[in-house]
Amino acid sequence: MAFEGLTERLQNAMTNLRRKGKVSESDLRQTMREIRLALLEADVNFTVVKDFVKTVRERALGAKVLEGLNPAQQIVKIVDEELTKTMGETAVPLNQSDKIPTIIMMAGLQGAGKTTTVGKLALKLKNEQNARPMMIAADIYRPAAIEQLQQVGSQIDVPVFQLGTDVDPVEIVRQGLAQAKENHNDYVFIDTAGRLQIDEQLMEELANIKALAHPDEILLVIDAMTGQNAVNTAQGFDDKLDVTGVVLTKLDGDTRGGAALSIRAVTGKPIKFVGQGEKMTDLDVFHPDRMANRILG
Ligand code: GDP
Repeated sequence: MAFEGLTERLQNAMTNLRRKGKVSESDLRQTMREIRLALLEADVNFTVVKDFVKTVRERALGAKVLEGLNPAQQIVKIVDEELTKTMGETAVPLNQSDKIPTIIMMAGLQGAGKTTTVGKLALKLKNEQNARPMMIAADIYRPAAIEQLQQVGSQIDVPVFQLGTDVDPVEIVRQGLAQAKENHNDYVFIDTAGRLQIDEQLMEELANIKALAHPDEILLVIDAMTGQNAVNTAQGFDDKLDVTGVVLTKLDGDTRGGAALSIRAVTGKPIKFVGQGEKMTDLDVFHPDRMANRILG
């Protein structure tokens, strides 16, 4: 289960506090030490942990929690609020173009869940807005990638534009966009290539696609199971592409929580959606406050 260890450790820290009734400064220090270790063990970015603990401690002292009637509850509330803030405070909707189509470019490492997420998002828009999306297959390096996108397309009844593997991806996107305009599609998804790790050639290609397509949204798809690496990957993509949002996938797995808690704080980019399973309906809007509650258990 996601966040299992983190939830347990945070709850333990709070339970120890509750037992005390009255909380001394050294009790608070002990609690903050436990929270710090819990976050580090969950693979949360070191700087994020440091800032988090400092803020919670300062707020607890400032609120005169130590003199209060129910210090443990107050500290739980502060931790909850600060977790929410760390993850971005409020849900951030998909960017919309004021004229159709809204162009959404997907980026991410191979296996992160790009193709699956394109399908999930397209289906969500169809179901919720009666949208008429189209998907462009711009990953020419794995023949199976085009096939996979076509399978997703037929599953959710969304057309896929593809020109095989012999045409330059930028040209595929150019022709795909022209087709979408002709067909009056209101959303176009560009499914791009991924690699096992970030490399210059991939980044160059993505930058070229961006320059041509002027996407309204560049969604970076990140596998939540990869912890600190997820954060480094996000930073790498963002430096080159200036992404507009993140989709965190595989939150149904037993991720420790590091990616969910670090990405926003490190990159400044909002997590917009979370993938919570392999089915096309397993995509949810990311709500930082609900995620904080889930983490606290
Ligand atoms: P891509 O290489 O980035 O396009 O990744 P894919 O879309 O092919 O996904 C890689 C694998 O991860 C596939 O087996 C997907 O079913 C799986 N996957 C994607 N998103 C999720 C998710 O949210 N939860 C789970 N459990 N699996 C996912």
